[in-house]
Amino acid sequence: MYVPTLRNSLLGVLALSLVSALPVNDTDPATNSKGPRVLILGGGVAGIIAARTLYGQGIHNFAIVEARGELGGRLMTYAFGAPGREVSLEVGANWVQGTQTGDGPENPIWKLAKKHGLKTQYNDWDESISTYDSTGPVDYLDVFKASVDHYTALTVAAGGRVTQNLVDTTARTGYSLVGAKERTPHALASEYYQFDWEYAQTPEESSWIASSWGNNFTYDVDVGGFSDDNYMSLDQRGFKYFIQAEAAEFLQPDQVRLNATVKSIAYSSTDVKVTLASGETLVADYALCTFSLGVLQNDDVVFEPALPDWKQEAIQSMTMATYTKIFLQFPKKFWFDTEMGLYADKQRGRYAVWQSLDHENFFPGSGIIFVTVTGDFSQRIEALPDSQVQDEVLGVLRSMYPHITVPDPIAFHFTRWGADPLFRGSYSNWPASLFSEHHENLRATVEQRLWFAGEATSQKYFGFLHGAYFEGLDVGHALAECIRNDGCVGLEHVKEVVNARPYKL
Ligand SMILES: Cc1cc2nc3c(=O)[nH]c(=O)nc-3n(C[C@H](O)[C@H](O)[C@H](O)COP(=O)(O)OP(=O)(O)OC[C@H]3O[C@@H](n4cnc5c(N)ncnc54)[C@H](O)[C@@H]3O)c2cc1C
Repeated sequence: MYVPTLRNSLLGVLALSLVSALPVNDTDPATNSKGPRVLILGGGVAGIIAARTLYGQGIHNFAIVEARGELGGRLMTYAFGAPGREVSLEVGANWVQGTQTGDGPENPIWKLAKKHGLKTQYNDWDESISTYDSTGPVDYLDVFKASVDHYTALTVAAGGRVTQNLVDTTARTGYSLVGAKERTPHALASEYYQFDWEYAQTPEESSWIASSWGNNFTYDVDVGGFSDDNYMSLDQRGFKYFIQAEAAEFLQPDQVRLNATVKSIAYSSTDVKVTLASGETLVADYALCTFSLGVLQNDDVVFEPALPDWKQEAIQSMTMATYTKIFLQFPKKFWFDTEMGLYADKQRGRYAVWQSLDHENFFPGSGIIFVTVTGDFSQRIEALPDSQVQDEVLGVLRSMYPHITVPDPIAFHFTRWGADPLFRGSYSNWPASLFSEHHENLRATVEQRLWFAGEATSQKYFGFLHGAYFEGLDVGHALAECIRNDGCVGLEHVKEVVNARPYKL
C-alpha cells in the first residue's frame, strides 16, 4: 500500500500547487531569473533531465508544461487489487535495464534509483523460468536456452556489420543468417521472449543493427554496456518516485505547469507560442518538445506552420510500438514457483510471457500474476472489452493448468497505451527502413527555436528510460550552449535522405 512520507507529501503539494499561470515575459519575477525563456513540453524523464541540465548551467528561466497531474510520464503507477489487497504496480516502465559492472559505465537510472532509495529487486529473466504449451506444463528449457544463444549470435553479428559498414536489414533476416530458423511453437515462443518482449515488435518489423545496438550498449559490458542485470522497482511510492524526487531538488513551483495540455505550437525564427487546451498562450524564446513519437505521429499537437518535410518523414519513419502488461489477482496462488513463465501457443506471441508477483522476491501473498503482450496483440486487445480479454487470458491459464480449477480473478487490469492521446503507444522501435539520417532528423532543431528530445531520439538507447535520460542531458546541454551564445543553428538536419545507390531508371 502507498505510504505517504514527508517528501512524498511535499511532492504531492508540489504537484497540486503548480497550476498557477506562468509569466510570459522574459523576466520571471517569481524566480528572479532573466534571459531567454524556455518551455519544456512534457514532464517525463527527458523533460525533467533537460530542466535539471538547464538549471545546472545557470539557466533558470524555464518551465515544464505537462498535461497530467504529476511528473514522470511513462513511469506510471497503478493501485491494483481487490479492496484491502491493493499493491502499487507499474503499468509503464518497471525495470532498470542494465545497472553497472564494477566501476564501469553506470546506467543513470540506476544511479538515481539508488540516490533516492528506491526499492528494487533483481529479476532473473533467463534462469528462473517454467515452460508451458497448450497441453499444460512441458519442459522445453533446452529450446529456450538455445534461443538465448541465437539472440546473442544475432546481436554479435549485427555489431560485426557495423564495423564492416554493411547495410541494415530486418532482425528476421539476421536470425536466418545466424542459422536460427525457428519453426515449432516452443522455439517461436522462446524467440518471442528474447526479442518481441523487449522491442515490442517482431523481428520482421525491427532493424537488425539498431535493435542489437540498443541491446549491446545497455547489456554488453564488452562494448560499453552497463551490465546484463534487470532490476524491478517494487517501491510502493512508485517507480516514478526517483524522478519526482530528483525534480523536487531543483524545480520551483512556478517552473512547472501541470494539468496543462498543449494543443498547438506556433514557431518562427524568433520565438515559440504554445497554446494550451484552456486557450491560454505561453510565449518563449525556445521550446523543447519531449512528447512521445506516437504523439508527434498522430497530430495530437498541431504545429504552425506544419513541420518541414524532412522532420515529418523522420517522425513517420520510426515506429511507436505498444507493450501491454495484463494484471490478474486471484484469491491465492496456484501457478509456478519460478519468477517467469513462458507459454507457447500455436500462434506465436499469444499471451506468451508471464511473471509471478506472488513470489518471495516480489509481493508474496499478493495473489498477483501478469502476462505481457506486444505489437499487433496489444493493438488487438486495446480494441476489445476488458471482459473478452480476461476470458482469453483465463483460457490460456486454464490450458497451462489443465488439472486445476482456475477460478475467476478478483481483480483485472491493463492499460491502453496505444489509445492514450498523451502517449499513443509504449515506446519507439527502429524499423529496418529507417536510415541513420532519418534519426538525426528526428532530433534536429526546427527554425533554431524548436528542439526535440525523448527516448525515441536516442540512437543508442531508444525505447529505454536511460535513452530518455541521455537525450534530456545532451539536448539540455546543447540548448544551454545555444542560449549562452545568444542563438545558434541547433542540431542540424539532413535536407533529403537519399539512397547510397539509387535505383537505375
Ligand atoms: C508499458 C511500458 C513499459 C516500459 N518498460 C520499460 C522498462 O522496464 N525499462 C525502461 O528502461 N523503459 C521502459 N519503458 C520505456 C520508458 O518508460 C520510456 O522510454 C520513458 O519513460 C520515456 O520518457 P520521455 O521523457 O521520453 O517521454 P514521456 O515519459 O512520454 O514524457 C512525455 C510527457 O509529455 C506529456 N504530454 C504528451 N502530450 C502532451 C500534451 N499535448 N501536452 C502536454 N503534455 C503532454 C506526457 O504526459 C508525458 O508526461 C516502458 C514504457 C511503457 C509504456
